[in-house]
Amino acid sequence: MSTSAPADRPRILLCNDDGIHAPGIQSLASALDGLGELCVVAPTTEQSAVGHAVTVRDPVRAHKEKFEVPSGPIPAWGVTGTPADSVKLACHELLDAPPDLVVSGINQGPNTAVNVLYSGTVSAATEASILGLDALAVSLCDWSEPQFEMAGRWARRLVERTLDRGLPRGVLLNVNVPALPADEIEGAALTRQARSRWEEGFEERTDPADRPYYWLAGTFVDLDDGQETDLSAIERGYVSVTPIQHDMTAHDAFDSFQDWDWDESVVEDESGWE
Ligand code: MN
Repeated sequence: MSTSAPADRPRILLCNDDGIHAPGIQSLASALDGLGELCVVAPTTEQSAVGHAVTVRDPVRAHKEKFEVPSGPIPAWGVTGTPADSVKLACHELLDAPPDLVVSGINQGPNTAVNVLYSGTVSAATEASILGLDALAVSLCDWSEPQFEMAGRWARRLVERTLDRGLPRGVLLNVNVPALPADEIEGAALTRQARSRWEEGFEERTDPADRPYYWLAGTFVDLDDGQETDLSAIERGYVSVTPIQHDMTAHDAFDSFQDWDWDESVVEDESGWE
C-alpha cells in the first residue's frame, strides 16, 4: 500500500493533457472541492496524444495561473511542457510537499484499450505512480459536446475510495466515464484493457510549394469480444475502472523463452578477438 497515508486534508494535485484552461480540469477541480488541499499543475497548451514524453532539450517554464473552485481560489501553475513534465515539476519544485494523490483529467475523449499508450492524460497519472504516489486518470467518452459534471461526480467517488483504501504500489486507476445522463449509468465496473489497434492510413496532400505532406487518419478496431473489457463496460453503460501499471514486463511470457539457450556465447573461439 501507499506509504504516504493521507492526512485529514490530503494534498491532491490535478493535471491533464488538454491544457490548464480546458473545461475538463475545471470540472474536475470543482467536483473535488472540499476533499483536501487542491492544486493544479498542468500544461499551458493542449498536449493530447503526447504519451509519456518528457522535455529534455528545451527549458520548461512555469507560470502562476488564476484557478477558482466553488470554495475559492486554489494554487495553480501552467507549465510549458508535457503532462509528465508537469507532474515531475510539481513534485520536485513547485509544491511545498509531495501530494498524497494525483488526479489527471477530465479528458475530453476516451482513453481505453491501446489508446492508453498514447494518452497524455494517463501518462500524467503514470508519472505520479512512478514517483510512488497514488494516482487516477479520468476521461469522458465524448469528443463533441462533453458534459463533464457527471464524470466529475464519479471522479469524486473514486477519489474518496482511493484516499480511503489506498492503491497497491505501482498501480494506478484508469477511469473512463460513458457519455450518458446520470440515471442511465449502471454503476462502475473493474475492467481490463481491450485488445485493439488502429488501422492506420495517411492522407497524402500537397502543400503550397508542391511538396507532399501526410496526415494520420486511422480507424480504431476493437479486436476483443470479452465482456470484462473497458470498451465493453462503456458500451453497456458502466464507468470503466482499469488498474494499470508502468512495469511493462510480460511476466506471463517468460515460459515462451525458456529454450532460447541463454548461456550460449557469441565468442566462437578465443582467437577470434585478436
Ligand atoms: Mn486530451
